[in-house]
Amino acid sequence: MKRALAPYVVKFGGASVDAPARIVARVRALRTRGQGVVVVASARAGVTDLLKSVLESPGDRAGHARALAAIARLHPDLPNSGRRHLERLARLVRSVEELGAADPALADRLLSQGERLAVAGLASHLTEHGIPATAVEADRLGLLTDDHYGRATVLIDRSRAAVRIGLFGILAEDQVPVVTGYFGRSLEGHVATLGRGGSDYSATVIGAILGARRVELIKREVSVLSADPRLVPHARPISRLSYEEAEELAQFGAKVLHPLTVEPARMADLEIVVRSLEDPRVATTIGPSHGPDGMRAVTLLSPLRLVRIRVPGGRGRPGIVADVSERLSEHGINIVTLFTSSTSLSLVLERGRGRRAREVLGPIFRAGPAKLEGPLPVSLVTAIGDGVLDDLGKIPAPILARAEGLSATPRSISMAVPISRGHAVVRAFHRALVESSSR
Ligand code: ASP
Ligand code: MG
Repeated sequence: MKRALAPYVVKFGGASVDAPARIVARVRALRTRGQGVVVVASARAGVTDLLKSVLESPGDRAGHARALAAIARLHPDLPNSGRRHLERLARLVRSVEELGAADPALADRLLSQGERLAVAGLASHLTEHGIPATAVEADRLGLLTDDHYGRATVLIDRSRAAVRIGLFGILAEDQVPVVTGYFGRSLEGHVATLGRGGSDYSATVIGAILGARRVELIKREVSVLSADPRLVPHARPISRLSYEEAEELAQFGAKVLHPLTVEPARMADLEIVVRSLEDPRVATTIGPSHGPDGMRAVTLLSPLRLVRIRVPGGRGRPGIVADVSERLSEHGINIVTLFTSSTSLSLVLERGRGRRAREVLGPIFRAGPAKLEGPLPVSLVTAIGDGVLDDLGKIPAPILARAEGLSATPRSISMAVPISRGHAVVRAFHRALVESSSR
């Protein structure tokens, strides 16, 4: 039996789960260091979207049959033991059809099937190639979450004992646990998913629980660049980010990482390495401090909606921000960011939420003279990097002049602009804050 040393956790995303030969090579290379390896996997590319399509049109039986066939085709190498997952999936789809809709728990149960299929296939593939592996379903393992279906948070302390016992037990047999990302079991006992892209978050949670020093997230295309290369062709790769920078990057739509991924890593003081499947030398390390090269990034979040509340004598109404955000969150409306001055409050919201926000905020202001404006279609452009605020003056005045709102912290500058200006502002920010960065 091996000693329960801190293992290495490596997560393979959808597109890389499709390249099992590379996965075998990577896991073998890690194991030769004599360290235990835990694999976390997300669903194969496209599978979660297919499952989502079933939920979006619960009555479309012909569409469901096509989706099921496509999912089966995406798993040609499933072992016999994995076939039962396909059968269960078909049964779940039938329940959705019969009910005519899925409640949040049934929806999450359906959405979790992609990861279950992926780990069944991957574990048998590893085993066939001489790396004994065991498929592990996170809900059965005892990864506990709160009851927010579709965007659950893992309850790390309450999951710790079961996850350690389960995974160290498998490692002690010299096997590689291949764990489903993306979901856990809610306190009520149902499957709860962690939000799109949630396997990144699963991986850092598992790393934190097992005491890993490092969690590797393998992506087919490493997209931790200084900007989206479709907007800025000469965008540069970023080799090192601090936790705070990475968190801002995830938050502001770089869509590189699930937004909760960084927190467990920071808590457990472990490093996240985002590595390219194609070329393992290409990697971005996220840790307690950023690198000496001090890279910065620019992100674009679009389309969004801006609702502005003008409050004459606003300073005389303390607590207004709290009232507004409480009211919105009661109605499930998420605030992407907000800009305040003494007389106005601008809320940046997801698309499709602007009108609803006006409706639910109306009653708060009925008594006073406040005025609501919008929703206005906007994009949010954000520059991220420690010390970026020092360079605020480098943003050309005509760019600043068109802002619908601006907020800044020592490590981020965010600006809301009309949608038609979004791409130009990304390029302007990149030029002013990344290319001419003094760091
Ligand atoms: N399969 C899930 C999704 O597509 C989770 C993930 O990919 O991390 O969102
Ligand atoms: Mg996925």
